[in-house]
Amino acid sequence: MNVYDGLRITAMLERHGYVHTDDIADADIILLNTCAVRAKATEKVYSALGRIRLAKKKDAIYGIVGCVARESGSDAFRKLKDLNFVLGPQSYHKLPEILSDPNTKLLDINLGGLEKFDELPPITKSPLVAYIPVQEGCNHCCTYCIVPYTRGPEISRAFNDIMAETMHAAEVGAIEICFLGQNVNGYKFTDKNGKTYRLSDVIKATAKIDSVKRIRFTSSYPTEMTDDLIELFGTEKKLLPFLNMPIQSGSDNILKRMHRQYSISEYMAIIDKFKNIRPDIQISSDFIVGFPGESDDDFEQTMHAAKHVGYINSFSFKYSPRPHTAAAIMPDQIPENIKSERLIKLDDLLNERQREFNLSCIDKTFECLYEGPDKTGKKHIYRTPYMQPCIVTTDNPTNMATITITSANKSCLHGKIID
Ligand code: SF4
Repeated sequence: MNVYDGLRITAMLERHGYVHTDDIADADIILLNTCAVRAKATEKVYSALGRIRLAKKKDAIYGIVGCVARESGSDAFRKLKDLNFVLGPQSYHKLPEILSDPNTKLLDINLGGLEKFDELPPITKSPLVAYIPVQEGCNHCCTYCIVPYTRGPEISRAFNDIMAETMHAAEVGAIEICFLGQNVNGYKFTDKNGKTYRLSDVIKATAKIDSVKRIRFTSSYPTEMTDDLIELFGTEKKLLPFLNMPIQSGSDNILKRMHRQYSISEYMAIIDKFKNIRPDIQISSDFIVGFPGESDDDFEQTMHAAKHVGYINSFSFKYSPRPHTAAAIMPDQIPENIKSERLIKLDDLLNERQREFNLSCIDKTFECLYEGPDKTGKKHIYRTPYMQPCIVTTDNPTNMATITITSANKSCLHGKIID
C-alpha cells in the first residue's frame, strides 16, 4: 500500500514541477511515508527524521505521511519543531497546500474519505507490477492491530474507478496486477443501480485485459474468502496459484483473545476448499508469537498448524503492543525472552518448509515475470507464480520468460530460460 501511495504522491509532485531525487541534500521537499503496524517501525520514523533534518538543505521542507503521521498527529510537531507537514493516510492529496506557503504547518489526519484516489494524478509509467487498492481500512478490530485506528473503517472504491485505474496501469506497462486492501477480500461496492461488486468481479474484469498476464491480491481475511472467490481459482488461470491467508495463531484460545473471527478448524476447512479447487495452490501466512496469555501449549498448537498447512513463505513476528489497541493493556503480557525463543522455533520450521518447497521446484518449468537486474548487474531476477525470486543469466531479459529451475536454496531459485 505504501509503495502505491508513494507512486501516486510522486506523480502529484511531478505535476507541480518536481523531479525525483535519491539525494536528500539535493531535495527541495522530503517526505517519509510511514507504517505503524509494528512498534519498531514507528520508533525508526523519528530517528530517520532526525537524520533527514541534518542532511537536508536549510530551506527544504520535510514531513511525514502515512500511518505514523495519523498516530502522532500534532505530537510530531512537538517532537520536531521545524517539521512542515503531518498527513495521515487519507490526506496525501492535501500536500500541494504547503507547496504554495512553506512557512505554514500542515496537519491533516482525518479519516473517512476516498478523495485522495480522485485527486491524486494517475501514475505515468507503470512498473511491470501495478498495485491497485480496492478498499481502505478495516472493520475487523483484531485486538492487537492499530490499522482500524490509522486507516479507519472499511471503505470500498467504486468498481468503475478501480477498473479505470487498472486499465490505465495496463496501458502504461503493467503485466501483473496486485489488488490491495487492508481487508482486500472484504471488497464490496454497490452502484447506483443496486448492482453489487465483489473482489471476484474485479478479478474477472481484469482477466479480460489481454496485456495483463498475472493477477494476485493481498491482504486477505480468512472468513471473507467467499465461494465465488475460491471458485475463481479453479477457472481463472491468470490468478496466481499463491495466496496469503494470515492465520496469526494456531490456538483457538489465542484467536479468541485476538478477536479473529474463526476457529482453527474453520481456517483449515477454507484451506481445504482452495486445495480441492486448485491442487497446485500454495499458501503463505502471517504469525504473531507471544500474544498476551499465549501458553506453551497455545504456541505448540501454532507450530502444529504451521506444519499441517506447510506454508511456503510467511511473515512471523513477536507480538508488539500498539497504542489504541485492546491487547496492549491485557495484563498477561509475555516476557521478551519467551517471545524470542518461540519466534526462533517457529522461524526454523517455516524456513525449513520454504527450503523444501524451493528444492521441490528443481526441474519444473514456470512462466515468470521480470523484476530487474541482481546486485551484480550481470544476472537478472524473475518472479515465479509462487513469487519466489529466480536468478537467470541472460543478455536479453524479456518481461515474461519460460524458465526451468536448475537449483534452489531457502531464499531463491536459479534457472535457465527456455527459448
Ligand atoms: S483484519 Fe488485519 S487489518 Fe483488520 S484489524 Fe485484523 S489484523 Fe488489522
